[in-house]
Order: sequence, then C-alpha cells, then structure tokens
Amino acid sequence: TLSDRLSAVFTSLRAKGRLTDADIDKSMREIRVALLEADVALPVVKAFVQSVKNRARGSEVHQALNPAQQVVKIVNEELIGILGGETRRLRYAKNPPTVILLAGLQGAGKTTLAGKLALWLRKQGHTPLLVAADLQRPNAVQQLQVVGGRAEVEVFAPEPGSGVGDPVDVARRSIDFAQRQQHDIVIVDTAGRLGIDADMMAQAAAIRDAVNPDEILFVVDAMIGQDAVTTAQAFKDGVGFDGVVLTKLDGDARGGAALSVRHVTGEPIMFASSGEKLDEFDVFHPDRMASRILGMGDMLTLIEQAEQVFDAEQQQRMSDKMLGEGDFTLDDFLEQMVAVKKMGPISNVLGMLPGMNQMKGQLDQLDDKHFDRVAAVIRSMTPAERNDPKIINGSRRLRIANGSGTTVTDVNQLVERFFEARKMMRQMTSQLGFGGGMRRGG
Ligand code: GDP
Ligand code: MG
Repeated sequence: TLSDRLSAVFTSLRAKGRLTDADIDKSMREIRVALLEADVALPVVKAFVQSVKNRARGSEVHQALNPAQQVVKIVNEELIGILGGETRRLRYAKNPPTVILLAGLQGAGKTTLAGKLALWLRKQGHTPLLVAADLQRPNAVQQLQVVGGRAEVEVFAPEPGSGVGDPVDVARRSIDFAQRQQHDIVIVDTAGRLGIDADMMAQAAAIRDAVNPDEILFVVDAMIGQDAVTTAQAFKDGVGFDGVVLTKLDGDARGGAALSVRHVTGEPIMFASSGEKLDEFDVFHPDRMASRILGMGDMLTLIEQAEQVFDAEQQQRMSDKMLGEGDFTLDDFLEQMVAVKKMGPISNVLGMLPGMNQMKGQLDQLDDKHFDRVAAVIRSMTPAERNDPKIINGSRRLRIANGSGTTVTDVNQLVERFFEARKMMRQMTSQLGFGGGMRRGG
C-alpha cells in the first residue's frame, strides 16, 4: 500500500545522519512511483513531489538533527496541503432552510450519504428533510424512505400512485413543504447514471436551478481511482459543486482519489463515508487523512474517541502507555481491550492505529468472540502476575486456567500475544521516533 511504500522510504532515510541532495532525489523518485501506483493523478504527483523536494533541499533539512523526521514532517504537511488544508465545514443559509443538493454517478453512494448526513444533522439538533428527486430507478424512492426511517427523519417523495413524477417539480415543491413544516435543512437526493451522461447532467442542473442550493456536494466513490478525477471534472462543468464527499473509503486501499480530487477540482473534500451503516461517516479532516496515508495512524481520532470512553486521567495513562512511556502491563492490555470494544467494531479501530498492517494479524484475534475469554483469563490473575507476566509459570497457568474456566493453552496464547503486542508497541514508538510528541498539544 501507499503507507507501506512511504514507510520504506522513511526507513531508508532514517539510517542517514545527514541528507545529501542525492539522498533526497532518490527518496523523491521512490515517493513519486509510490503515488503513481496508488493511482494519484499525474499533475498532483508532480506538484507534490516538486514542493516536497524544494523544501527538503532547503536549509530546513540540512540544519536538522534528525533529517528523516524532517522529511516526514514536510511530507505530512504537503499531504495536508494537497488534501485541502483546513477542514471545510458545512455552510448554513442565513434564512432556513439550508438546501443541500447531492450529485454523482449511480452507485456512488448518494442515497446512503443522504441518510448519513440527515442522521448526523439531526443529532446536532437540526430537523432535516430528505427529498426523493431520483425518480429514475424503480426502487430509488423506497430506498430513500428506508434510509430516512433509519435516520428517523422525514422524507418528501411523490405520492404513491401519482405516476412517475417530475424530479424537478418534486424538488421545487419540497422547499415550500420544508418551509411550512419548519425543516431547517433540505437534502435533495438525485438520480445518477452509470457513466457520465448529458441528460443526467441536464436534469441535475435543472434541479439545481429549481432549489437554489446552498451547498452542492459531489459524491464520488473513492474506489474508482483515476476515474474519480474525470468524473469530478465532468460534474464540475455540468452541474458545478461546492464540495466533495468521498465514499467507500473503507475499500480504498490506495488513497489515490482522496489525494487527487481536491487538487484537480479546486473544491474541498467535506465528508468521508467509510461503510454502509449510517454512522460510518464523518467530517473530512485533511490532517487526519494525511497521517493515515503516512501510516502513522490516526492517533487524533483514536484519542478523541477514547476521550468519550475514558475519564481524563485514564485516558492520559492509556496514551502514555500506547506511546511507550511507562510500562505496559496486562491490566493495561485489558483496559485497552475494554476501551477498544466500547469504541465499536474492531476493524474501524484497527485502521486508526499506527503500523496497523503489521498489527492486523495480532489484533484480528481480538474479536468479540475471544474478548470474554481473554478478559476472564486476565481477571483470574493476581495483581503481581498482571504486572509482570514473566512470573506466570506452569502451576500458575493451571490455576489461572481453572479459575477462568479456560485451558492452559488459552492462558499461554494470551500471554504470548501480550508479549508480542508489547514488543510491537515499543518498536512502533521507537521507529516513529516521535515519543510523546504525537500527543495532543505536543
Ligand atoms: P447512489 O446510487 O449514489 O444513490 O448510491 P447508493 O447510496 O445506493 O449506494 C450504492 C451502494 O454502495 C449501496 O450498496 C451502498 O450500501 C454502498 N455504499 C454507500 N456508501 C458506502 C461506503 O461508504 N462504504 C461501502 N462499503 N459501501 C457504501
Ligand atoms: Mg440513489
């Protein structure tokens, strides 16, 4: 993956005490190939490599104590820049309702996104209205109604039996309806085609003119790679848009679309969808995406989520331990597992951990089925054993197994897994060489 390739570049730089221009050029060639293989559009790759190179060759690096870290820092900052810099928030209309129009190809994820947005907005105290202006596919209206039901928001659709209906008319009438019913936000779902199509563009543009949207969001499937750029261009010309929503980021191993779309269209990525469920959705944060691409994991998101789960003191302890300060014990291991479990599906959390590729195999074993057993084993240990698992000899293992209703093999596996996890955490922290600097405010 792109992260692995970039990590390899940084690893080879780390061995150098000082960086020569030749070292930098070589690294930049490797980064260029890595980006191209990740399906990042060529103009983006060129611009990116050039600006990293310029900065890396400047005095910045030569005076640095740790050149590899400087390059990581520059690459990170440039990635954030390419991804749009600041997080772009939704703009609300001065006079409600705020009208949001969704446009994009069929299957991009517009209807799903409509539900996600509606749920997200409702949770913030808004009263969104979903509008079914996709009357193309037979089941489109029904699909939006199902999604609206899940999000617990009202759906405006042509009356059943009223014939096919005109999407432009439906969209226009929905605005009056929203005003009468005190909906402060209107989300208009539109039809897409499988490919770029003049009729579809014309229809989306007609709906646009009918509802006068405050935000037009172009919804694009991140998995389509380079095609995302062509499609975005076509929508830019045909309908115009104010922001991009990347969907299916859960399946986008290469990251090419995310890196290209902003630069090529000049419009910000505003939201990211990463799954079929309505809560698998978030505001797009360029800095977090950059650190994810860099393979340093999304520590910020993890810490933010942990905040909701832990009290402040507990959280500080956990982040210290995860970053390798202090001694990581089986109690910490258990505490983390409990926290991780509360945070949601393990695969989501996995993506946020640094070095996730190496750790995936380990952490995959931590699914819910194993969780209760592991917790029982740790809870059957004495405090001394939890602090220093090395003292767990044969007879202790048997006692723990009996006490927890498991087998000696279970106990052995857990202890081994714990040692591996601890080793990996230490390796990660020393490899990254950031120490506590990755903590918030650090
Ligand atoms: P539309 O044609 O643009 O309205 O797209 P839909 O909302 O109907 O989505 C098309 C398919 O993609 C559906 O099966 C969705 O469940 C799925 N989908 C939408 N968003 C995501 C996402 O973020 N991740 C994944 N894995 N699937 C998604
Ligand atoms: Mg749809």
